[in-house]
Amino acid sequence: MQKGQVLGFKRPRIELEPCPTCKGKAVVKGLFYELICTACNGSGWVIRGSRLVLSSDELVTQLSFKLQQAQREIEVLQQGSSMSGQSEYYQQNNRRGAGGTNFTGD
Ligand SMILES: [Zn+2]
Repeated sequence: MQKGQVLGFKRPRIELEPCPTCKGKAVVKGLFYELICTACNGSGWVIRGSRLVLSSDELVTQLSFKLQQAQREIEVLQQGSSMSGQSEYYQQNNRRGAGGTNFTGD
């Protein structure tokens, strides 16, 4: 049961890196309160290499990709201990059955 090979490439994926100004925190400390970081549009991320800010629309989509990826990883980690078959779509960690399973530990 192979689902899609890669994550879904309907939209181009833009490589992001943590904003150097706010260090990925999306806010910068003012004297008394935190301010939205303008260098990254309050996202904490900028385009890798160029360090440009994404537009709001594009930002939402790209952050969604990142979040989906992170959630997938979290799910895999959570399922790792209970070894259900549901992590099948995560290919890198899918050794499925005899031989390659890391069945050690609980
Ligand atoms: Zn920033």
